[in-house]
Amino acid sequence: MGKGSKARPISCTAAEFWDNWDKIFEQPEPFLREKPHCISCGLIDESEVVEDVCIDYEPYGDRTVERKEIYVHCERCGSGVEYNY
Ligand SMILES: [Zn+2]
Repeated sequence: MGKGSKARPISCTAAEFWDNWDKIFEQPEPFLREKPHCISCGLIDESEVVEDVCIDYEPYGDRTVERKEIYVHCERCGSGVEYNY
């Protein structure tokens, strides 16, 4: 064995990491399907909700992990959509 650099053991997978992350921040499940509510139009139909998916890269030690963010907006007016739980 030489002095070569040894790969660091990976302590957890990205999925486990975000599992833990969600536990830490207690994020509510964003896609419990309840009635969508546009902040401008009021109640709208499920079919009028447009989802944008963004991939963010979060630093995690000396690596980065993907974090998927989903933004929803109203197809009619483009305003934000909220779900009433
Ligand atoms: Zn709207």
